[in-house]
Amino acid sequence: MKINLDRVIKDIETLATFTATPGNGVTRLSYTKEDRAAREYLISEMKKIGLKVWEDGFSNLFGRREGKNPEAPVILIGSHYDSVTNGGAFDGVAGVVAALEVLRVFEENNIENYYPIEIIAMNAEEGHRFGVGTGVANSRALIGRFVEEELDLAKDKNGISKRQAMIEYGFTPDLESAKRPEGSIKTFIELHVEQGPILDNNKKEIGLVEDFPGIGRYKVKFQGELKATTAPMDIRKDALVAASKFVLAVNKILKEIGGGITGNVGELTISPNSHQFVPEFAEASVEVRVFDDKVLSEVNLYEEFKKEIEAIEEETKVKIELSEVARRGYSNPTPPSHMSAKNNEIAKKICDELGYSCMVLKEGTGHDAMMMSEFIPTNMIFVPSKRGGITHHPDEWTEYEDLKKGIDVLLYSVKELSSSEEMQQD
Ligand SMILES: [Zn+2]
Repeated sequence: MKINLDRVIKDIETLATFTATPGNGVTRLSYTKEDRAAREYLISEMKKIGLKVWEDGFSNLFGRREGKNPEAPVILIGSHYDSVTNGGAFDGVAGVVAALEVLRVFEENNIENYYPIEIIAMNAEEGHRFGVGTGVANSRALIGRFVEEELDLAKDKNGISKRQAMIEYGFTPDLESAKRPEGSIKTFIELHVEQGPILDNNKKEIGLVEDFPGIGRYKVKFQGELKATTAPMDIRKDALVAASKFVLAVNKILKEIGGGITGNVGELTISPNSHQFVPEFAEASVEVRVFDDKVLSEVNLYEEFKKEIEAIEEETKVKIELSEVARRGYSNPTPPSHMSAKNNEIAKKICDELGYSCMVLKEGTGHDAMMMSEFIPTNMIFVPSKRGGITHHPDEWTEYEDLKKGIDVLLYSVKELSSSEEMQQD
């Protein structure tokens, strides 16, 4: 039972050609002709190994290898194949190709699986076309957490709504049919390149993700008054002074909450941005990550920010507006997600048997697996990213030998999880 690295390389290299920016990384936004070309390639590769191929009401692409018990819940493996603008050849695609290769090996070796195995290829993970808050859309639909109105409210830079884009691509969005019934999936495993340098820095070959933080995002607008810099100090309403106080307040609040919560103002614009004026307006973005479920049950972050803002308004006379940039259907921050400890144990054992060094990671970026974990036991297998761990960039790079090791871990995990009914009694 061996994976064929040449085939994997061919898949990665072929998929990288379906880009809107040849010579400058991979640009494959959702529901574009590049998306279509990648999908057609995947469909033809899935058909070559006799998978039953279909698409759900939300453009998720599936390839199914039947199980000895067709009624049993499926082992779902895969990732996304959309990219950001000028992204790399590995983010997302690595996991789709890994899933495909696993089922090729199953087919070649006549490996018997009691549980059906399905590949899922998702095409709107990055949310790059329709903007912040629109990512991980396919997985949200699959678990029944996609809110219908997003189809019309989410628009690309040309004003095309997600609904319209999907229809033009050939799908009439049908959320009801995209939602998988409770109990129909046994587990989901996503292989992905690490979006950071931790594995490479620690010289580890495999990363097993333990938890994902919950994420909160806030926008704050500061409305002061336009005045020349000659204005006396006591009549000013300086938006930047108010914003500065808020930056410090966020830092103070999060330190006081503790429990591993992290966050800061990471974006700040002021206008006019000129030495001749007292800033009239400022806008700040806050991003917060929560690792401990307890933190959210004990603190209401919005209220904490609000309290400080009222004090700053009083002091500076600047009007301040706070809003949560929440994913539709969620309170903000989203709760932390936890990967299946049991499946991580299995993967750890496989790494030991294969002689691959592995480490547990707490990852900071967003993935479909985070959504899936609300619904079914879920795991992520990370492989190292080179060149300082950069992703979402034309220079994104994973050594093929490292990718092969990740696929091995996926292969043996799927083999174990899909094998016999008896072995799987919890
Ligand atoms: Zn990704």
